[in-house]
Formats: sequence, structure tokens, C-alpha cells
Amino acid sequence: MIKRILITGGAGFLGSHLCDRLVEAGEDVICVDNFFTSQKSNIAHLLGKPNFELLRHDVTHPLFLEVDEVYNLACPAAPGHYQYNPIKTTKTSVMGAINMLGLAKRVGARILHASTSEVYGDPDVHPQPESYHGNVNPIGPRACYDEGKRAAETLMFDYRRQNKVSVRVVRIFNTYGPRMHPYDGRVVSNFIRQALAGEPITLYGDGAQSRSFCYVDDLIDGMLTMMTMPDEFPGPVNLGNPNEFTIRELAELVVELSGSTSEIIHDREQPQDDPKQRQPDITLARTRLGWEPAVALREGLQRTIAWFRDADLSMYRAPTPNY
Ligand code: NAD
Ligand code: UDP
Repeated sequence: MIKRILITGGAGFLGSHLCDRLVEAGEDVICVDNFFTSQKSNIAHLLGKPNFELLRHDVTHPLFLEVDEVYNLACPAAPGHYQYNPIKTTKTSVMGAINMLGLAKRVGARILHASTSEVYGDPDVHPQPESYHGNVNPIGPRACYDEGKRAAETLMFDYRRQNKVSVRVVRIFNTYGPRMHPYDGRVVSNFIRQALAGEPITLYGDGAQSRSFCYVDDLIDGMLTMMTMPDEFPGPVNLGNPNEFTIRELAELVVELSGSTSEIIHDREQPQDDPKQRQPDITLARTRLGWEPAVALREGLQRTIAWFRDADLSMYRAPTPNY
């Protein structure tokens, strides 16, 4: 039976890959996006397909559609993007979640919410299991995103308890791959763009802070599997690659794989509240979803660098002003 599936933020980096997979699977896909941090080129190849529909809409406003499933991804995700208009970021997380949960409740749809490792803040438990409640600064520059996402998780579980909505929550750790916004300021996009242009690779701080990078195809597998889980398992579940690297190691690997002559420089101090360490504990995903990442960083970076080489950077712009 073909499902009608709504993907908010469907034109973004992760959303466009999710659209691809669900359109390929023959589902009836509705992509909703306001193009704050994305561009039509991510989904242009899907326009015209009979089982794909694009709707320009801002999720802070109510939306009335009839669907079987909702993937709620709409939210700027890169620090530079979500700090651009922080009040709007919180509105998108919180009001977007309320509107999509209201829709799911009205039509009896299942909803999967894209949460984040940022709910753990700058963690003092390592690696981070789902049972860890986090160390978030509620008034810092990352709070609009972190607390917005935490409130969205709260809403998911209150709609589940109070209104019996079928919810699924995944906490996504740093994910990279083709269609990352080249100017989003995230570390993988920055380093690859800098390496290919022969510009200095910009380390913030001494580069000893760590992240664990998951290739996009692995992440999408995890999200799709989570959507099929029974109601007894709403999550939250961590999705990410547990292989941890320092930011300096990442810089060195990008330089090597792109055959670049770029030097690695200390560009500025580590930003405020920037987590020093981040690594998912994916025991729960392994045991309950039978999921774990398959693509190693070296392999994933090669694919991503190949995409960046061919990308037309003039198609990408900074977030819309006065948004
Ligand atoms: P992205 O910026 O490429 O995608 C977000 C999409 O949401 C964009 O297309 C943007 O235009 C859209 N959007 C933003 N505000 C909107 C609004 N008010 N109404 C409608 N659309 C809106 O980022 P991404 O990396 O693809 O992230 C997708 C989701 O996954 C986000 O919710 C993000 O928080 C979550 N996530 C991503 C990562 C990662 O490493 N990529 C990690 C943790 C969580
Ligand atoms: N970073 C860096 N140089 C850059 C961009 C980012 O050293 O040009 C660092 C950043 O300070 C952080 C890490 O890389 O410690 C990951 O940053 P990103 O913005 O990709 O995502 P985060 O995991 O912090 O949300």
C-alpha cells in the first residue's frame, strides 16, 4: 500500500536524501520547505515525478494535509544558520513541532522528529547514551537550537501520553555528505571548500575538540528503520557514527584526500559553548533497530569531496535577510 508521506525541511541536506529514498521506494512524497537554508537544486531532479510534490510553506504556520507519516526535519541545523535569527530558530522548533503534531493528531499519522545530539549540550558524560539528560546552557548562543530541540522532544512525548499520537524521536549526531550547504560554516563543508580552493583550513581552538561523523546514507537508513518500529519503542534513539576524530585529524584527512596544498591554521578561539567532545553511544540503535553505520569517514569524505568538486557554488546563497 502506497503511503502519503510529508517531509518538512525536505529540500535541505538530510531532507532531500530522504525524499530521494522515499520517492524511489514508490511512496507519495510531499516536501514542505521555506528554503531558508536550502535551494531547489537539492530536489530539482524530483520535480515532475508523479509521486513527488513540493510545497513552499513555513512550519511555524499551521498546515492542513492528509498523510500517513510525517518526518519533521524543518529547522536550520548549522550553528551559523540557527544563530542568524535565533528567535525564529526556537519558533521553528517549537511551533513547527506543535503544528506537525497537531496535523499528525488530526489525521492519525505517525510522526518522526529529527532531534539532535545538541540536546546533550557540552556533555560531561562520554560517550552519550540516551539516558543522559545533558549539559545545556539555557541562555547561551546555542540555546535557541538546543532548547528548541529539547522542547520539541517534550512536545513529542506529551502528545504521545496525552493524545496517543504515534511518535518517533531520533537524536542525530554530526552527519555529512553530498548536498551539505557549502557555506553553512559547518566543519566538514568549510574544510572541503577551503581545501579545494587551496585556502587555509580554519581550526577553531587547538583542534583537539572531537566529533563523530556519520555519512548521510547511513543516517537515512537509521531514520527509515526507526519509522517502522512499533509504538512501544518511540525512542529517543541516538543515530550517529561512534568513530570519534579530533577536528585536527579531520582537517588532515580532508587535505590528504583532496590532494590539497592548504595549510592548517589556528583561525580563532573555540566558540562559546562549543562542545569539547561528542560521540554517540549507539547500543540502543544496534540492539533495537539492528542499525549501525557502514561507511567509514575516509570513504564518506571521498564521496563528499567528489560532490563538492562538481557543485556549482553560485547556486548557494546565505540565509535570506529579514527572515
Ligand atoms: P538543512 O539546513 O540543510 O535543512 C533544514 C531544512 O529546513 C532546510 O531546507 C530549510 O530551508 C528548512 N527550514 C528551516 N526553517 C523552516 C521553516 N520555518 N519552515 C519550513 N522549512 C524550514 O539541515 P540538515 O542538516 O538537513 O538538518 C535537517 C534536520 O536534521 C534539522 O532538524 C536538524 O536539526 C537535524 N539534525 C541534523 C544534523 C546534521 O548533522 N546534519 C545533526 C543533528 C540534527
Ligand atoms: N570548526 C572548526 N573550523 C571550522 C568550522 C568548525 O574548527 O571552520 C569546529 C567547531 O568549533 C566545532 C567543530 O568544528 O568544534 C564542529 O563544528 P560544526 O559547526 O560542524 O558543528 P557542531 O558539532 O559544533 O554543531
